[in-house]
Amino acid sequence: MSYQDTQQVCLNGHQTTANYHGSPEFRRKHCATCGAQTIHTCPKCSHEIRGEYHTDGVVVIGFRTPVPTHCENCGSAFPWTEAKAKLASQVKGDGAADHFSLVQQICSRFHLVAKQLRTRHADRDTLVVNDEYDAQDLLHALLQVYFEDIRPEEWTPSYAGGSSRVDFLLKDEQIIIEVKKTRATLKAKNVGEELIIDSQRYRAHPDCKKLLCFVYDPEGWIANPRGLENDLNKKEEGFEIKVLIVPKGH
Ligand SMILES: [Zn+2]
Ligand SMILES: [Zn+2]
Repeated sequence: MSYQDTQQVCLNGHQTTANYHGSPEFRRKHCATCGAQTIHTCPKCSHEIRGEYHTDGVVVIGFRTPVPTHCENCGSAFPWTEAKAKLASQVKGDGAADHFSLVQQICSRFHLVAKQLRTRHADRDTLVVNDEYDAQDLLHALLQVYFEDIRPEEWTPSYAGGSSRVDFLLKDEQIIIEVKKTRATLKAKNVGEELIIDSQRYRAHPDCKKLLCFVYDPEGWIANPRGLENDLNKKEEGFEIKVLIVPKGH
């Protein structure tokens, strides 16, 4: 007996499983890589997304069922295909370039980049993101891909017991990016309190119209990342705060 299985993919295009029916234990509601919601049917027509093809007695090793770009039934582009097209048009500068979304895109891919850096040819030296300074340095490098004028802003917050931190000002775009990395002593409650203090400081900053608080949480110390984001996101006249906790797949 041969049969066609279905695959489950997150809205950003990461495959969760190509054996949705055959191995239900691999199903996930959210992506382990990026935290986005997963689907196994076309959002437009509900047709199941084609997964692995099973032939009885044949085990294919090393073959990975590709993630399709379009629905084979209705022909519409899947959400990840649309997202890629949108990003491409932003990068090319079609229409009004939305720099704030671009910064969020970079941050949302940060964990993938950090993980990829661990895999080096013959175990050569690499950048391992262990603390907030490592996260700042890696983000600084990634920002260079799209932005010309990146200014590290050093300051000493009242809560940090004398230790200073660096945030980034994109002067032309009037965006400030704040980087935090969670740890055993910096969990949801403290992160929330610190971000409120920081956002008050940046509201008064003459060059800041938008503040992105990027919270890198690779060990999953924050139990309800979406809840914390929703509590802290704020948009008012002339000032916007967006909190992005990455990754969310715990
Ligand atoms: Zn994903
Ligand atoms: Zn469809």
